[in-house]
Order: sequence, then structure tokens, then C-alpha cells
Amino acid sequence: MTNQYVKKVLIVGGGISGLAAAIALHKIGIEAEIAEKQLEWDVYGVGIIQPPNALRALNEIGLAEACMEQGTSYSGFDYYTGTGHFMFYGPSPTIQGYPGVNGISRKKLHHILIHAVQEIGTKIYMGTTVNQLDNKAEGVTVELSNGITATYDLVIGSDGSNSKIRQLLFGDIIQQYSGQGVWRYTLPRPKEVDKGLFYYGQKAKAGLVPMSDDEMYLLVTTHEPDNPRFPNDQLHVLLQERLAEFGGIIAEARNMIVDPSLVVYRPIFSHFVEGPWYKGNVVLVGDAAHGTAPHLGQGASIAIEDVIVLADILKHDLDIQETLRVFMDKRYDRCKLIVDHSNQLVEWELLTWSGKMNDGGRIGAFVNETLIKMNEPFLTEVNRPIG
Ligand SMILES: Cc1cc2nc3c(=O)[nH]c(=O)nc-3n(C[C@H](O)[C@H](O)[C@H](O)COP(=O)(O)OP(=O)(O)OC[C@H]3O[C@@H](n4cnc5c(N)ncnc54)[C@H](O)[C@@H]3O)c2cc1C
Repeated sequence: MTNQYVKKVLIVGGGISGLAAAIALHKIGIEAEIAEKQLEWDVYGVGIIQPPNALRALNEIGLAEACMEQGTSYSGFDYYTGTGHFMFYGPSPTIQGYPGVNGISRKKLHHILIHAVQEIGTKIYMGTTVNQLDNKAEGVTVELSNGITATYDLVIGSDGSNSKIRQLLFGDIIQQYSGQGVWRYTLPRPKEVDKGLFYYGQKAKAGLVPMSDDEMYLLVTTHEPDNPRFPNDQLHVLLQERLAEFGGIIAEARNMIVDPSLVVYRPIFSHFVEGPWYKGNVVLVGDAAHGTAPHLGQGASIAIEDVIVLADILKHDLDIQETLRVFMDKRYDRCKLIVDHSNQLVEWELLTWSGKMNDGGRIGAFVNETLIKMNEPFLTEVNRPIG
């Protein structure tokens, strides 16, 4: 299974896709090094929704079971009006053998990934970024910020939405502000919350996502015109204010938001690199290539799928340019679908909140169809070029 062209790989960014990439490459006999900007791992304390296609991709590197053991699985979401009237139960589309949803704490997901990376002995340069790339056909000479300069056959830019690797390859790209922000807060999980809950208010959407037997996180999406900056010590009050219209369990949750340091607020941006995701022997994966609004819970899923697909193509020993061309070809439509459909959901939510749209049924069907599409096979045959 050896690849004659790719022996030495640098992965820039030790987030979800970077750590998964190191494991996927090890499985096909390629050892990688990781350069991670943070001096120490610092993963924020809320959770993440893992749909079945994320678990299917993690299964390729032997980590789906651990995620389900350390997270909590359920079949779908109950939907309510903002005031707390039950509307319907929506099962999440599944792939055989996987639950509709697995909720897991981001810290636990990181521990699962880092433990696997440590077990295979991947060298990680912490507190390190890339200063310069000299991207030639015979290899990429990389000057790291820790003083090391080395030449790699392949460099993988998995350094997230504000990717420096992307900037070095292609210059600045526009990340589009959605007009929305997402607020999250970790809460104890009452026994009766046995699935995810979503509440559709007049001005906001609130959800409760179980992430273990005893913890869940509150997820609130709001209209935040002009991407405001909020004072850190007021975040709990601002979140409480945004939940004023909600009844039911969300009203109870509101009273438990007391610590501003536990509020995780993120303005929602998106971007999609339309042109090649690679230049020479450097390739972008995950959020570096496609940063999506979180409305379909798919950002990390497609980031993990990216690196599983890349490793699968590397098994076929194509030359590097062909490998990267096939990689982008296989990933483009699927990732664009998620970015575009998530942007569509943002737009519909904003229209609903401004009173210009009232068609929740259409939104539910759209989400369902998109998730069914994501459950289609993602590892398709790699055809050798003719001639
Ligand atoms: C509010 C919100 C909610 C979300 N919820 C979900 C969800 O429920 N389900 C889901 O699937 N996805 C969700 N996502 C998306 C998901 O978090 C991302 O898609 C995923 O983290 C992308 O993984 P990545 O490896 O590409 O980037 P990241 O996970 O961001 O990792 C990038 C890594 O690179 C490092 N780095 C950055 N710059 C450099 C540099 N210059 N040099 C070296 N290292 C660098 C960073 O420190 C980090 O470790 C959500 C996103 C947001 C904003």
C-alpha cells in the first residue's frame, strides 16, 4: 500500500481534520508531522452534533465507537414553537448501523482524536505555525515558526476558517458574514431530555443538544446585524435577553445562564474556495477550504470526510497533482452543497424573523433531503487516468 510519491507530510493545524488526517495517513503507511499554532490544546467546552455520515467517516479510522461511547446517541429532534407548544418529532435520517445523531462534548472529541494520534506516535510541534512555503515540484520547503526548515512531499492545510496556508497559496478570500450569531452554554441534562429539542421563536431559534448522560448544551441562533462585538463580562445577560420570548424548558434554561465565561458566542461566517483547493504540493482541507454556517451540523463531518477521502486516493499511488485533482473533484459538490444549503437556511431564518416568510414545513423538508444526500456513499471508486 506504499505511495511512491508521498513519504513525508506536514499537517498544518491540529484541529478535527488535522488530527483525523494524521490517523488516516498512518493507516496507509504514511507518517505525518503536525504543526499546531496553540501552545497548549484549548478546546472550548460546549458540544458538537455528529450526524451519521460523521460517524461513518470516523469509523474508517476506528473512532466512531469511542465517540458514541463518550457521547450520547438519539434518533432525532422534537420541534416546538418558541412559547413551548409541541409541533412534531423529526427523526434524523440514518445510515444503517448508526444513530440519527450523536452529541458529544468538543473536549471529549478532541481527547479521542489526540489519544489516537499519540498512540501512533505522530510528532506534533505545538505553538508552531508556517512562516513561509517554497512550493516546488520536487517538494515543499517549509519554514516553521519554531526555527525548523524541512522539505515535505505534501503539505495539508487543515488550519481552519482563517487558514494561513490558504492565505499563503491564494491570498485573502472573502468570508461572508451571515448576519447571525450563535450562542452556546453547557447545562446539566435532565432525565426527560432524551433527544434533541428545537424551539422556533419569532426572533431566534433555541435548541438543547444532549452531549452525555448528564450534560447538554443550549444552542441559540440570533440575528446580529453588523457583526457586533460584545463585552465578555455581559455575555450571560445578553444571552438571557435573547431568550426572553421563549417558554418551556428554554425559559428554565435561561435562569441557569449565570456565568459569562461559560457563554460561547460565535458570529457566523461562511466561505467556499471555488478555485483549486491545491497549488503545487499543498492542499486545503476542512474549514480552510469550506467554512459553513452550522445549521446542518455538518462542518466537522465534511472536514473528517475530506481527509478520509484524501487518504483513500493516496492508496492508489497516483502522482501528487493527479491525487489532488481527484481529491477536489470528489469533494467539491458535496462540500458546496453543505455551504450553500446552510446559507439558504440562514436566509430563510432571517426572513422568518423579519416576518417576510412563514413556511416551516419547507425548511424541515429541505434539511431532511440534505441530510439524506449526505448519507449517500462518500468513498467512491478512484479511477486511474487513461493513458
Ligand atoms: C457555532 C458553531 C457550531 C458548530 N457546530 C457544529 C456541529 O454541531 N457539527 C459539526 O459537524 N460542525 C459544527 N461546526 C463546524 C466545525 O466546528 C468545523 O467545521 C470544524 O471544526 C472544522 O475542522 P477543521 O479541522 O477544518 O478546523 P478547526 O477544527 O478549526 O481546526 C483548526 C486548527 O488549526 C489550528 N491553526 C489555526 N491557524 C493555524 C496556523 N496558522 N498554524 C498552525 N495551526 C493553526 C487551530 O488552532 C486549530 O487547532 C460548528 C461551527 C460553529 C462556528
